[in-house]
Formats: sequence, structure tokens, C-alpha cells
Amino acid sequence: MNDTTMSDSTAAAVAAAAALAKAADQPAVKVHADKVDVYYGDKHALKAVTLDIPERSVTAFIGPSGCGKSTFLRCINRMNDTIDGCRVTGEILIDGGDIYDPRLDVVELRARVGMVFQKPNPFPKSIFENVAYGPRIHGLSRSKSELAEIVEASLKRASLWEEVKDRLQESGTGLSGGQQQRLCIARAIAVSPEVILMDEPCSALDPIATARIEELIDELKANFTIIIVTHSMQQAARVSQKTAFFHLGVVVETGPTEQIFTTPQDKRTQDYITGRFG
Ligand code: ADP
Repeated sequence: MNDTTMSDSTAAAVAAAAALAKAADQPAVKVHADKVDVYYGDKHALKAVTLDIPERSVTAFIGPSGCGKSTFLRCINRMNDTIDGCRVTGEILIDGGDIYDPRLDVVELRARVGMVFQKPNPFPKSIFENVAYGPRIHGLSRSKSELAEIVEASLKRASLWEEVKDRLQESGTGLSGGQQQRLCIARAIAVSPEVILMDEPCSALDPIATARIEELIDELKANFTIIIVTHSMQQAARVSQKTAFFHLGVVVETGPTEQIFTTPQDKRTQDYITGRFG
């Protein structure tokens, strides 16, 4: 049978199969934001942000400073709840579930959505305790040996194990900046989050430590959905598959990273990536 003789029902089935195949190529949406507005008192910091974050890949938020990237990142694990006078409206879904549902347990949400900050911030405790803390408070291990296994596995996944396996009882704050940041990533991973938010995670690091974190991000995307705020366009280009360009509280443009950097559709994006402002 060829196209000219195909019955309507066959044609419909073929079209449906093609749509399914196309959908199969597309990663599933992990985080869906719809018309999100954020106010700090009277200040309207984020305006009608609508954005999809694909699962198991890296999405970069770029844009000049003060344009709302961190504010939006903090909406995704409800960190803005802790800021006095901050108000969030609109909808954010993770796997289709509303994270602003009043019945939702925010502590559980923050275990599902981990965060790594600009400045490495290990607890003033041992390397072991830094990683064991989360699994312990969330009751993820039944025994000491199971906890030790989680710590080892997390340090391995954060590619820090080889450097610290003989000094697990030493303080986490005694590590180098790059090691501290990998420790913070191990700490985030230890509670098996689904999403990891990274707010300029390399801005306090030297180029070698930065390269190690970027390699790590690339590995982690096989298992986690990663969202990274970065002021470095080179970094966004190196590590991310999708990019969202923020400007003055608005998401101007989103798309595959390569397309955003080679053929941006909006003049503001074009001006930013060519260094005309920001
Ligand atoms: P970016 O991450 O792009 O640099 P931010 O999200 O930090 O931007 O900031 C967006 C806007 O919101 C800025 O004007 C900033 O001054 C304001 N803002 C951020 N955090 C607070 C806060 N805790 N209280 C009041 N205003 C804030």
C-alpha cells in the first residue's frame, strides 16, 4: 500500500506512530513552570515565567545580573518561602505535581530538589558527617554500614572519593575550594534527589577546579535533572543542552543551547551573547 491508497484509519495510525516516535526523541519534562511571578514586597522581580525543564539533562539560565535567574531557581525548591516579603504566584509542577500545593511537605520537596550554592558551604563537621547528615535526617539508612555505603557511593559519584577516602574524619572545611564544592555536590546527591539546582557553582573556583565540576555535571546528567545559573556563557555552552535567557525579570528566549548561541531569535539575546550588554 502506498500513500495514495492508504485508508483514512491507516493514515491516522501512521501519523500517531510518527508523533509517538518524535515524542520518544524528546526528553520528558521534569519541571514545568507556568506564568510564574515573584515579588519582593513591591518589587516585581519575575514576570510571567513559563518554562519547561527537560529530565536528565542540563538546563542553563543565563542573563545579566539582577534579572531574576536565582529568584527563579529558588522557586523550584521553595527557598523563596524563607525570604520575608517574597510572594510567588503561578504554577510550578514537578512530574506533574504542584509543588506549591499547601499539603506538600516542603522538607520532602527539598530532598527531591537539592541545591548547590555559589560559595562552597560545607558544615563545620567531618567529611563523612557532611554527606551522612541528609540521609540520616531523612531516615534513608537502616544501619551504620548502610550509611557508610551511601556516603561512599555519594563521594564516588561526586568524584571526590579517591581524594578523601583516607581522611573521612577530617573537617570538610579543610578541603580546597574545588574539593569543598564537590563535597557539597556529594551532600546534595546523598539523599537521592531528582533535580539539582546549581547557583553559579564555579564562580568561586579556579579554572582547573571549574573544569572538574563541569565534567562532573556532565556525568551527573545521566541520573539527575540539573539546572545551572551561570554568568559564563562559555560554561553554559559547554555543559548545557537547553538554555533560557533571562532579562529584566522575563524569560526572553529558550531553546537548545547550540541554537541560542548560534541563531538566537530575539535581538536582546543576540546583544547579550555578543557581549553588547551584561
Ligand atoms: P540574578 O540571579 O539574575 O542576578 P536575582 O534573582 O538575584 O537575579 O535578583 C532579581 C531581582 O530581585 C534583583 O532586582 C534583586 O535585587 C531582587 N532581589 C533578589 N533577592 C532579593 C531579596 N531577598 N529581597 C529583595 N529583593 C531581592
